[in-house]
This record gives sequence, structure tokens and C-alpha cells, in this order.
Amino acid sequence: MSSTINPSLHFDNRWLRELPGDPEPRNFIRQVDRAAWSHAPATPVANPALLAHSAEVAGLLGLSADALTTPEWVGALAGNHRLPGMQHYATCYGGHQFGHWAGQLGDGRAIYLGEAIAQNGLRWELQLKGAGATPYSRNADGRAVLRSSVREFLCSEAMHHLGVPTTRALSLVGSGESVMRDMFYNGNPRAEAGAIVCRVAPSFTRIGHFELPAARGDHALLRQLVAFTLSRDFPHITHGDEIERIGAWFAEVCARTGELIARWMSVGFVHGVMNTDNISILGLTIDYGPYGWLEDFDPGWTPNTTDAEGRRYCFGRQPEIARWNLERLAIALRPLLPDDTLLTQGLQRYDASYGSSTTALFAAKLGFPGWRDEHGPLLERLFELLFHSEADMTDFFRRLGELTVAANAGSALPLLAESSYAPERWAMQAQGWREWWQQYIALSAFPQVGAGDTAIAASLKRAERMHAANPRYVLRNYLAQQVIEQAEAGDPTGIHELLDVLRRPYSEQPGRERFAEKRPEWARHKAGCSALSCSS
Ligand code: AMP
Ligand code: MG
Repeated sequence: MSSTINPSLHFDNRWLRELPGDPEPRNFIRQVDRAAWSHAPATPVANPALLAHSAEVAGLLGLSADALTTPEWVGALAGNHRLPGMQHYATCYGGHQFGHWAGQLGDGRAIYLGEAIAQNGLRWELQLKGAGATPYSRNADGRAVLRSSVREFLCSEAMHHLGVPTTRALSLVGSGESVMRDMFYNGNPRAEAGAIVCRVAPSFTRIGHFELPAARGDHALLRQLVAFTLSRDFPHITHGDEIERIGAWFAEVCARTGELIARWMSVGFVHGVMNTDNISILGLTIDYGPYGWLEDFDPGWTPNTTDAEGRRYCFGRQPEIARWNLERLAIALRPLLPDDTLLTQGLQRYDASYGSSTTALFAAKLGFPGWRDEHGPLLERLFELLFHSEADMTDFFRRLGELTVAANAGSALPLLAESSYAPERWAMQAQGWREWWQQYIALSAFPQVGAGDTAIAASLKRAERMHAANPRYVLRNYLAQQVIEQAEAGDPTGIHELLDVLRRPYSEQPGRERFAEKRPEWARHKAGCSALSCSS
């Protein structure tokens, strides 16, 4: 069968081959000890239909988009059958949830298809999210609803195109079955459309994979997992003995996470559930649940209603929480190291990487050729003003790049004020904005008009440079909700159009201005547009 569908997709399932598996072949919920994975056959669905796919991800795998529409592939992407080389399994991990050790979690509704080797030799893990219960499903059903699947599918691809490291999404398949969910956790479950996303990443390994054997005192499995990860996912770390390699690996995880969080902060992304089981060791954004995009700039904002009380995972705390999560990984690795020296050094790499990535990204967003210390207070003050003025983060920065080199406070500030959701609150900050503008100009935010360059040419150059750092299109919460409602009514074309817009987030797309509009008033408090629960 495979030769007619796709001659090049070859599987090499190293996780299964090289790590200890759970000997139990039956699929029932249990604690799994001394094993890194369990058999987890997907539960077939009634009526699978391909609702959307990513041509780019198909391309990474060497698949044609046409191949994906064949019944063989649609069935495989629904979990109804396996193509040659595919194996269905779930992996065992633990995690800290909302700051507390939660014990075994594991892939409760993600079932691996295996590790595909593309023609260029790159390895991609494929997972079906929502394909049925596994030994790790605890008290849940292993299914996913269409609304959260659309959100994961679109955001994975949107983040990639924004330049933010992320797991990818190959396909969105409607299951033709319904799933019962209590969306608001208020005792009113209802039947919702079910769906399955096939997600793709070089590795889905999380901090929680190491925490669980460490917490159980299973140092043999812990050591094996680390050695496997070094060999499969970090083959470039070859220098030194085992201890040095583990130290170098940890430092690299920290550095990658630092860059990731800086990128989230620069585009206004709030993950929403930064539990250690949702933190990738490759520094990828992983597990899209009740995430959201900052609209009015509020560091205390979280899209996750489950976290509304403590706001542990709000926008402004993400850098601190990421470090806390890396400290959990450090604690898990302790049994493998003679002392904490390398772990402490690794955590310092997080601080350094987060710091340097943030300053580079925000220098670019402000239009400075590089970061200087004087920019720090300017940025701090800007954050305060944006907050007090209820300004839309994405819209504000895009407007900043649009200003001409001839702009003065009188012409620039009214244009920037358009980014506010509350003009009266902007007006209350008028004096602050004028002072900020003077400082911004004083720090040479505008290039000198060089000899032979007109003011217009200089402005265009500035805009081009700044627009590359300030997206025009992000997956605004209300935009996702609109295409979800359309898809729930049976029409997935809105997903395709939105995906296409999000493919070029930094470019002007004539005719598609509506996708860049600030959140409309009706969406301010609407479920799905402003706040989400974990129910998915
Ligand atoms: P999350 O915070 O969404 O990443 O989920 C935490 C844990 O709950 C993970 O181990 C998931 O696999 C599991 N989980 C979440 N939703 C479901 C579901 N519908 N069925 C089975 N397991 C689930
Ligand atoms: Mg998770």
C-alpha cells in the first residue's frame, strides 16, 4: 500500500526500539513503572473527514498534499488504521501542574504514529491528538473537540510562520463523532463535534519525561532516557564525558527555552498552561490548550479561566515560570551528576539567553539597530503606558513602524492612539506619551536621512525593517472563534483562509485588512474570544 501512497515516508521508531516498553499489551488505565512507553492502539472513529491540512508540513515529510486526501491517509490520520511502518504508542511522563507535583500523567490523548524519516534524513515524530484513550488517560476519554483541535492546528502553523519555535500540525480530521464536554465546568456537559490533529515535531519529549523516573527513584530509566535524548535529539553534543555531556545538554535546553520565551513575549503569546509536562526539551511551543494572544497590553492577563485566581501563567510571569520549570528539570537530573555546578551554570544560560533574545527582539520592534542600556527604561515606560492606555500590543507596534521620519509628537501620537481600546484612558496618559515620544526621538529611533535619500525613501526603509519584527496578523482570539463556529456549522473554509493569512504574518495582505483589526467590542467578554477553560 505504501508504495502507491507515498514511496518516501519511512518510519524508524527509535523510542520503541531503544527504550524499555511496558510489557502489558492491553489498553487500560494504570500506573506504568520502569517503562518509557506503552502500546496504545487508537480507537477508530465513525466517519473521518479531512477538514484542513498544512501543505508546508506535508512538504517537510515529503508527502504531496494530494496524498493526504486519499482514504488511506485520512484513515491513518484518524487512527482508524496504520500505514506500513506506523506503530501506535503513548509515552510515560509526569509533571508539576500549577506548581504541585502531579505524579504520572503521560500521553492521555496523544498517540504516536512513529518517527518518520524524511528524504533529507530529518526525523519527525507524528502524533494523533484525540485518537482515543491510552493507559495514561486517567479519568478522561482520550478525545478532543473540534474547537480545541482547530485552535491547535491553526496556532501551531501561525507560530511557525511568526518565527516562534513550535510543534507543527499536519492535519485536522473531523471524527464524525461527538464528544461530551462541560466547557465551563459548571455542570452543563453537551455533545460537541470531535476531531483529531496530527502534530509533528522532531521530538515531543518534555521536562516531565525526566521528572517521573527521578521522582520514582528509577535512576536506571532516568539515565537511559537522558542517554537516548542526547543520542537522538542532541547528536551534536559529543564533547567530554557523560557528566559533561549532560551538563551541556541541560545548558542547551535552558538556552533554547530562554529564546522561546523571549519570542512569546515579543509577539504577545500567552501559553496558558505552563506545567512541566507541557514544556518541550527542544525549546518548542508545545500543547496548545487555553492559550491566547495579548490584545490590550496587560501583563496580568491569562486566557485560562482555570488560572484566573492565581494567574500563575499570565503573560508577565512566563519568563519566571519557565525558569521555575527548568529548575524542576535540574532537580530531576541531580542523581546523574556529582554536584550542582553544571546545573547552576545551565540555569544561568537561561537568564542570559532570555535576556539577550529579549533585548534583540525589542530593539527591532522599536526600530533601533541594536540594544543599548538606555533603551531599558524607555521600554519599561512604554509597557506602563500601553497598560494604562489599554493599547493593543500588535496594533501599536505595527503603527510605530508606519510613522514617517518627519513625524513629530503632534502627528505621531494621534496615530498611535488609534491602537487603544479606551480613548479616554489614552487621553489620561497624554502627558506621559509626549514625554515618552521625546525620549524615543532622542534615542534616534529614526534614521538620519542620508545624502541622496529622500525622507520618503528613509521612511520606507524604516517601515520595512520594523515590520519584519512587528507582525500585522496574529491569531487573535476572536478570529479563531469565528472560524471555529463556522466549522462547527459544517464549513471549514474559514480555517483555510485564516491559515493562509497567517502564513505571511509580517506582510501587508491587500484585501485582508479585516484580519488585522483589533478585537471588536462584542468579543471583549465572549467565551472563546477572551477566556477559555482547560476543557478541550
Ligand atoms: P494538559 O494540561 O492539557 O496538557 O493535560 C494534562 C494531562 O491530562 C496530560 O497527561 C493529558 O494527556 C491528559 N489529558 C487531557 N485531556 C485529556 C483527555 N480528553 N483524555 C485523556 N487525557 C487527557
Ligand atoms: Mg499536556
